[in-house]
This record gives sequence, structure tokens and C-alpha cells, in this order.
Amino acid sequence: MSIQITGHTRLGGLLGSPVGHSLSPLMYNETFRLLGIDWVYLCFDTGQADLRDLVRGFRAMNVFGFNITMPDKERIMEHLDGLSEAAKMIGAVNTVKNEDGKLIGHNTDGIGYVRSAAEQGYDIKSGPMTLLGAGGAASSIAVQAALDGVPVLHIVNRKGRSWSHAQHIADLISRNTACRADLTDLADQTALRKCLAESTLLTNATSIGMAPLTDASPIPDVSMLHPGLTVSDIIYNPGCTKLLSDAGRAGCKTFNGMYMLLHQGAAAFRIWTGLDMPVEKIREKYFR
Ligand code: NDP
Repeated sequence: MSIQITGHTRLGGLLGSPVGHSLSPLMYNETFRLLGIDWVYLCFDTGQADLRDLVRGFRAMNVFGFNITMPDKERIMEHLDGLSEAAKMIGAVNTVKNEDGKLIGHNTDGIGYVRSAAEQGYDIKSGPMTLLGAGGAASSIAVQAALDGVPVLHIVNRKGRSWSHAQHIADLISRNTACRADLTDLADQTALRKCLAESTLLTNATSIGMAPLTDASPIPDVSMLHPGLTVSDIIYNPGCTKLLSDAGRAGCKTFNGMYMLLHQGAAAFRIWTGLDMPVEKIREKYFR
């Protein structure tokens, strides 16, 4: 891939920490090249930097937009000029579009996850789901799964930073959709076992098991995993987390976060440009 930078090239990118492992620059820059769009996409490791300063810098440079990954998906919202209905409901933003100088936040994680599950042959309507996590990505997946017809959703998180937000999401879903959503403490292993026993889909949307801490799993007791459960991890580095490898040994079907990344990226690209990403070409080149 070679990118030609011109005097008109517009900048966009990814904010978060860590970001060095991200496939997003390859995915978007190849898409720009294929479609002849004079834009470039870079990663910016936010580290200890002040988010307000970063957003001001992006505004001043008139970026076309940007993505945000952990840990800033919630904190970014106060620095934006507006939010899509979905981002408001989810309480997190992963995509920002510059609309004539106004920075508008969106969230495409849930769309990406549900699309990737369908591609793996899992119909979200087909049974109860246990979702681990209540951060930015998990909230987006919870809302999208409920909108797309998951009948029962068990949200499981530790009692910490996101607990009250998780309760809010569960209530919002139960009130506004046909899905029955509840919240369980990750430390309550008896309740977790019950959730998993009745579920046909388990989704890890915590960062447990992500590189470099690849020996960790959110389900240390592998006896909770059963062959009727499809187990997915939205982590894609490593490609096979400890959870997925334990699940494979327990006879579960598994899939990782690779195709979620592709589909949430395609949804972000559509928000920025109104165009379809050439998903098959990008998949062939970077996601095999
Ligand atoms: P957030 O920081 O918003 O959320 C992290 C979640 O993990 C929270 O629920 C947090 O709980 C929980 N968590 C973290 N560490 C622990 C721990 N030691 N024990 C228990 N719970 C823990 O991150 P994101 O939602 O943005 O991302 C989560 C993961 O998903 C990351 O690994 C990220 O790379 C991946 N991801 C993949 C995508 C893809 O396209 N495949 C897209 C987006 C994210 P608490 O709130 O209590 O801290």
C-alpha cells in the first residue's frame, strides 16, 4: 500500500491508549486508496495527555473525523458539540464526524458486533445472551443486541466504575425493548453459572485477556462453559484469548473480535463519507 499525501490531504485518526496494535490505519488507509479519497488516518496514543487539548488540536486542524478507543469513550462526550441518538442512549462514543466544524459523536461498536455474529452463523434472536462488561463497547453491544431482538440479556460486570451505568443500561433496555435485561456481579460465581447455563451466547466485552495480560480469562472456572454456548470475545489481540481457547476445549463454537472491528469500521466509514467500505477487499487483505 502506498499513500500519496497532497496539499489537500485531510487527517483523521484513532485516539486511545494503547493504540499501537490497531488494525484501523491499515483498514481505513487502504479503503481511501481503493476509493480515491484524499484522506489519511493515523493513531494517536493519548497516554497522559489532556483530552480537551487533543480535541482542540483536532478541531484546529479541521480533521474529517476520528475514532476513540479505551479508555476515553465516555470522557470524550463532554468535548463534543452533539451526539447521535444511539451514542446518547449508550453513553459512549467510538466515532466522531466533523460536520462543518461541529464534532458529532456516534457509536458503531454494537452494529459491528451483531453483524460479525451473524457472519459467524449466530442469530442474535436465537437465545439468551450473557454479556461480560459494561464499558463503552459492552454498552453499545447491549443496546444493539436488544434492538435486534435478543430475548434475554444478562449483563455481568464487577461492582466498580461502570456498575451504575450498567444498571441504567439494563433498565433502559427492559423499559424500551422487548428484551428482558438484568445485571449480575462478576464476583457472584453462583449467579454467573446460572446466567451461562441458560445462555446460548457468551460475549466477553471486558478487556480481560487482552495483550499483554493474555493469561487472564473472565471465566476462570471452565466448568461453566458448555457445548450449547457460542463463546465470543471482542478482543482481537491475541486472536485466540484464554477464554476462547478454554471454550474451544469445552466444545463451544467460538469467534473473536476481528470481524467486529471490520464491521464497526465500515459503519464509521459510512458515517464519515456516506459510502460503503469495500469490506471484502479489506477482509481479504488484512483480516485473514
Ligand atoms: P472500557 O474501558 O470502556 O470497558 C472495559 C470493561 O472491562 C469495563 O466493563 C471494565 O469494568 C471491565 N474490566 C476491565 N478490567 C477488568 C478486570 N480486571 N476485572 C473485571 N472487569 C474488568 O473499554 P472498551 O469497552 O472500549 O473495550 C473493552 C475491550 O473491547 C478492549 O479489550 C478493546 O480492545 C475491545 N474492543 C474491541 C473492538 C472490536 O472492534 N473488536 C471494539 C471496541 C473494543 P469497570 O468499568 O468496572 O472498570
